[in-house]
Amino acid sequence: MAKRTTFMLTVNPKIPERLSRLEELTNNLWYSWDRATRALFSRLDPRLWEMVGHNPKAFLRRVDESLLLAASEDPAFLSFYNSILSAYDSYHSATIHCSTVEGIEAHDQVAYFCFEFGFHESLPVYSGGLGILAGDHCKAASDICLPFVAVGLLYRQGYFTQKIDGQGNQLAAYCDSDFEDLPVTPVSRADGSDVRVQVKFPGRIVMAKIWQAQIGRVILYLLDTDLPENSQHDRLITHQLYGGDKTMRIEQEIILGIGGVAALKALGITPTIWHSNEGHAAFMMLARARELVQQGLDFASAMEAVAVNTVFTTHTAVPAGHDHFPEAMMHHYFESFYQELKISRETFMALGHTNDDHDFNMTALAIRLSRMHNGVSKIHGSVSARICRDLWPEIEAEENPVDHITNGVHIPTFLAQEWTDLFDRHMGPEWRNKLCEPEFWSRIDTIPDHIFWSVRQTLKSQMFYGIRARLTEQNIRNHGSDAHLERLLKLADPINPNVLTLGFARRFATYKRATLLFENLDWLRSILLDQERPVLLIFAGKAHPADHPGQDMIRRVNQVAAMPEFEGRILMVEGYDLRLARRLVAGVDVWLNNPIYPLEASGTSGMKAGINGTLNLSILDGWWGEGFNEKNGWGVKPVSEQLEPPLRDAEESRSFYEILQDQVIPLFYDHGKSGFSAEWVKMAKHSMATLLPRYGARRMVEEYIQKFYIPASQQGVRYTQDNFAVAQNIAAWKAKVRAAWGGGWIRPAGESPLASLYTSSLPSS
Ligand SMILES: *Cc1c(COP(=O)(O)O)cnc(C)c1O
Repeated sequence: MAKRTTFMLTVNPKIPERLSRLEELTNNLWYSWDRATRALFSRLDPRLWEMVGHNPKAFLRRVDESLLLAASEDPAFLSFYNSILSAYDSYHSATIHCSTVEGIEAHDQVAYFCFEFGFHESLPVYSGGLGILAGDHCKAASDICLPFVAVGLLYRQGYFTQKIDGQGNQLAAYCDSDFEDLPVTPVSRADGSDVRVQVKFPGRIVMAKIWQAQIGRVILYLLDTDLPENSQHDRLITHQLYGGDKTMRIEQEIILGIGGVAALKALGITPTIWHSNEGHAAFMMLARARELVQQGLDFASAMEAVAVNTVFTTHTAVPAGHDHFPEAMMHHYFESFYQELKISRETFMALGHTNDDHDFNMTALAIRLSRMHNGVSKIHGSVSARICRDLWPEIEAEENPVDHITNGVHIPTFLAQEWTDLFDRHMGPEWRNKLCEPEFWSRIDTIPDHIFWSVRQTLKSQMFYGIRARLTEQNIRNHGSDAHLERLLKLADPINPNVLTLGFARRFATYKRATLLFENLDWLRSILLDQERPVLLIFAGKAHPADHPGQDMIRRVNQVAAMPEFEGRILMVEGYDLRLARRLVAGVDVWLNNPIYPLEASGTSGMKAGINGTLNLSILDGWWGEGFNEKNGWGVKPVSEQLEPPLRDAEESRSFYEILQDQVIPLFYDHGKSGFSAEWVKMAKHSMATLLPRYGARRMVEEYIQKFYIPASQQGVRYTQDNFAVAQNIAAWKAKVRAAWGGGWIRPAGESPLASLYTSSLPSS
């Protein structure tokens, strides 16, 4: 059994009156992007702050009362505390901070469903890119005052923590969270009782408790089935993120989708725009359709009414990566449901049908029950259109309505404090309001080169401190010698951070090819071991415990890193999480990404690197396919997809070696009299100036608003009026067209009325 995370004894100290709002600060994930708030806690007791894993709430439950008392009398601390409260209050005050989002009406509300959310390491309900992207979406929605609620699951264990043993084996430990320590609170009614929802399962009712996490102005509702009134089996539904088998997965998705809709209803929230981030949440569309059928609508009209204001975002570029469930399993869980929808088993199963197999496919369901669908980069939009082509068999994939909105990252979360300070000094504090204005960012040029360079070196130094601590711990645990540790940390020297440092950190999924640079070890040796121009290569990342090839890759990285000549030149740092990610993306000089094209849907860590002046060297896939402009980093053109994988690896690794040896290394070490590379700074500034205003989450959310949310809301209103007259007309019209064409689909020519059946542009009524 997993242990509970008991950092140390809880004392629940009495909080002095003058510091009474500390508690409020611990319960708002605003601290996940407000570094000053985190610094405030850390200042109280830096050691405890480390011990509780940077978790303000866990910290405040354990901090020594005398320290609080002393702080409440310390003018410097109080002034820091008050400045934070004033920033906090002005952020949350609608009048100071918010202008209305144009096109979004007072009654509008976006409901955003996702299987995982990553805001900060203190709320471990994320595994990787998808969750962090969802977290960033919420944060940006809060920043621009979008009426927005999010829905997810509160996992008792979240994702695992990773240790790596002396042989390079990944040891996955799952720890129960004490919810009292997490920045969440139960949602309660006026009488103090918890809000719970009931979700119908075969032969039983599963209860889910609703928690809330405050993300600035946005609320995330999290469902939790770990309740005494549920059976032992059902209590475990929300136990583990991406744990268990297909049964566990479908039950989690039912809780998220169907329970999530019930939760919003119980809370009196009436969304006008519904967004399913990935297919995991697509059952929410069925739950909404059932509600309309219960109100008297027929299923076809209900489907139209649901789809018209539903947005579906897919994040997967591998068909097998899309969730699907055997028909028998679907029947088991949904038998009574399709009766409630008043449709036959066949009609129901057809909602998840694809030409690939007989399983019920969640992406197919999501596409059929949404009118707006997108991939997460330009390339991924086309890939997704191809994956989903069978849903529009009579038109070419390029013509089908799977669109794209390129991901973005939350800049206040990932931009290092040093940059924030520097921007304040050189560009004026208004830069915060110019996050989407490319013209403004040419002002980065006004930062003197030597200052720019020294900020980069400072960030590298800080990163070295961080990874030294982790590697030291790792070495002690694995019974490594002091001499070994010394050799390991030789280049990662915070006092002398001038070594060119490359970073590769992300999930160890095989398509990401973490070991690509090991294709030709002789070549790699000649690159890393140059006496005059050394290079340090840092790896981090987790492989899913069921992904054995992924874990083999971790072993391989460790094996190569342990070869005598690579010792200290290649480092594998365990425990990749948001905290390590923030340090790495800002600290290394070059960020690597070398996936198999076109399988990287977007990739977001490279964006986090780019906004911090770290240069990207990546395959032109995902976001980098559009972010690269020849001058803001390096791009590797993928070779033909037709080539056999070993040949592709050989060819593409070759490009990486060549670019490293011919371009990256000479440029970095081209120190003039000034002691740094002016050309490097020029490129890094250009990279920052082009990427920061383009790959922020605010730009992304604004695109969702313009492209999808506003039309969804407007069409939603139109469809609902007069007892869903438009929804009914559209459903009837579609049935008529289908019948007229005899069910045999014909490719539409030009402006055929058929085309509009498949596209989001609707015939006007
Ligand atoms: C950004 C981030 C990711 C996603 O990285 P990709 O480059 O998209 O694979 C994964 N994990 C953590 C901790 C991150 O911060």
